[in-house]
Amino acid sequence: MTGFLMLFTFGCSSYQEAEQLRVETSLFAMNTYMTFTAYGENSEAALESAKQKIKELESLWSVTDEDSEIYQANYSSGQFVQMSADTAALVSFALEMARKIEGALEPTLYPVLRAWGFTTEQKQVPSQEELDQLLSLVDYSQISLQGNRLTVPDGMELDLGAVGKGYAADLATEILREQGIESALLSLGGNIQAVGSRPDGTDWRIGIHAPWEKENLGVLQVRDAAVVTSGGYENYSEDTQGNIYWHIIDPSTGFPAHSGLQSVTIIGTDGKTCDALSTALFVMGPEKAEKYWRKTSSFDMLLVTEDNEVILTEGIADSFVLSDGRDETVRVLKR
Ligand code: AMP
Ligand code: MG
Repeated sequence: MTGFLMLFTFGCSSYQEAEQLRVETSLFAMNTYMTFTAYGENSEAALESAKQKIKELESLWSVTDEDSEIYQANYSSGQFVQMSADTAALVSFALEMARKIEGALEPTLYPVLRAWGFTTEQKQVPSQEELDQLLSLVDYSQISLQGNRLTVPDGMELDLGAVGKGYAADLATEILREQGIESALLSLGGNIQAVGSRPDGTDWRIGIHAPWEKENLGVLQVRDAAVVTSGGYENYSEDTQGNIYWHIIDPSTGFPAHSGLQSVTIIGTDGKTCDALSTALFVMGPEKAEKYWRKTSSFDMLLVTEDNEVILTEGIADSFVLSDGRDETVRVLKR
């Protein structure tokens, strides 16, 4: 049971019975500290399988690991490379979402992201000239995926960081369900995946971060849902004049997206869609995000604007409560 924390409680109420076996494990993968908690019989084995899957996906999708499939495709000099089924599915999904959200989600942004140093931790501010030159290498429509054969044109590079964790969370959830787990909470950095409800049948209570603060903005109650947050505060650098540059880039400029938002939380049924939308809607800003929400009906969102307004969609209006003492105004979007 190395790496697992097993907590036993004894008693005779149904809640205590359900709580009897709570297993928690953590790992560092995909540049994020992850914590998985599951309840009930078989939790330990199920979490171990989920953990293994995450590690396997990381080794397939890393942009810096020379052995990863994405690295191989990025350095293929324009030749096709055979992908595993999981990688092909992720690439296919990222391309489909890029087409749906034209302009905000760009799976081929890696040359620009590398120039900023976000994946190597050697952060710097590239010149506009350098960015313009790199942006000529950014265009998801030139990526070809035929079955599992992926072709990345010479000089272009994929980075699936905006959707990979969400996709990984979906696959981990699938593994837990297949192994009979009905109650679990997976936290992959800003990506939360709630499996079922808490063992006593009540909703999971998910803390939503107040951007740039240690405290929570509030608590959201959910069951069987993905809750995915994107925010500039999650990964950024600061120059000597105190200017802040964050990791979510506007593909039209190559610069960090300043769209009027501090954070975007998407709530929906699957992690991959929520992950794609959290990044894209951060780039789009509050007005376009609202339009996109009105056009599609498959998700809820919580936006924190630069003016500290909290915008909620009606589907979660009754499940979100601001923390005590917070003074943000809350506006609910209705259809
Ligand atoms: P997330 O934390 O899900 O919002 O994803 C942010 C990550 O996605 C960044 O660290 C980059 O690796 C990548 N990224 C940044 N901007 C974009 C963008 N506009 N489209 C696609 N990926 C992006
Ligand atoms: Mg995302």
